[in-house]
Amino acid sequence: MKKRGRPVIYKTLDDKNIRKLQLSKSDLKNTSFDVFKGWFLFQNSCCIYCGLTNLESIKLSEQFPKSTRSGKRGFSLELDRKDSNITNYSILENLCLACYWCNNAKTNYFSFEEFKIIGNAIKQIQKHRLLKL
Ligand SMILES: [Zn+2]
Repeated sequence: MKKRGRPVIYKTLDDKNIRKLQLSKSDLKNTSFDVFKGWFLFQNSCCIYCGLTNLESIKLSEQFPKSTRSGKRGFSLELDRKDSNITNYSILENLCLACYWCNNAKTNYFSFEEFKIIGNAIKQIQKHRLLKL
């Protein structure tokens, strides 16, 4: 039974889940699925900042449930706007995949380029934590 209020865990990134990722942003509802999937497949299926994969994100979310807004986020890669001044998510060139921890820490304060530097530090910590699991 699906827990109420808990997001779907994307253990696989198949069409169904790619569509769910697309529909997680209402700005993308009018973008055709083929266009969005084409964009998605061009990504590396990992956080652009720290390199965390979807499965690694799930493992860390399960290990540190209180770090992910009581389990409400962190179970899948999220859509992040490289330039947060562009508020519309339908501009695919401005989108990237980010893990919860990077997306949450980047906020609207750090630029894309600034956060790539921070993402390298996060990457070292995440890899260390994953080795302990
Ligand atoms: Zn990340």
